[in-house]
Amino acid sequence: MSSGIFDLLVEQLQRLPGIGRKTATRLAFSIVDDPGMAKDFTRVLDMVWKKVGECSICRNITEKDVCDVCAGKSRSNSICVVHNPADMRAIEDAGLFRGRYFILHGVLAPLEGKGPEELGIGKLKRMVERFGTEEVILALDTTADGEATSSYLSRVMSGLDVKVTRLARGLPPGASVEFADPLTLTQAFQGRQRV
Ligand SMILES: [Zn+2]
Repeated sequence: MSSGIFDLLVEQLQRLPGIGRKTATRLAFSIVDDPGMAKDFTRVLDMVWKKVGECSICRNITEKDVCDVCAGKSRSNSICVVHNPADMRAIEDAGLFRGRYFILHGVLAPLEGKGPEELGIGKLKRMVERFGTEEVILALDTTADGEATSSYLSRVMSGLDVKVTRLARGLPPGASVEFADPLTLTQAFQGRQRV
C-alpha cells in the first residue's frame, strides 16, 4: 500500500465525530495490520450505503421504509423528539418511554443551512396527525442551539391540538449551587418541586 492510500484512510477516519488525527492514524494502522479487516469493513459499509436509510415517518435509521418503532402496535401515541438516533437509543435502553420518536438529525442552525425543512418539521406535524398524538415530549440538549430548537418547536406545535412538554431541567446529581451556571440555576428554580 502506498502512503497515499494510507493517508486517504486517515483522512476518512477523521470525518468521524471525536476522532482526531492521532486516533485516526492509530486506527488506520490497525486496519492495515489486519489483512481481513479492510475487506470486512468494505462489505459492511457497502451494505450500510445501499440499505440503511431514514424511516419515512419518524426519520429513525432503518433498512425498511417504515422502522420497527413506527410499525409497533403496542406503543403509546406520544412522540418524543430527539436530536439524533443515539439519543433515541439512550432513552429506549433506559426503558423510560414506550411511545414513538421523531429524530431531527441536528439542531436548528440557519447559518449552517439547518432550517425547519432539514429538521423535518413538516414530517413531525404529519406524524402527530397520523398517530392522533396527545403529547409531544421535547428531549433535546440543553445547549444554546438545543434550547433555541425547543422554543421553535413549541411555537410550531402550538398551532396543533397537542400538549407539548419538555424534560425537567436543573442541577444534575452531585452539582454544587455555587458553581452552577446561571441558566442551570434558573431552570432548577423554575422546575422546583414540593418536598
Ligand atoms: Zn419510524
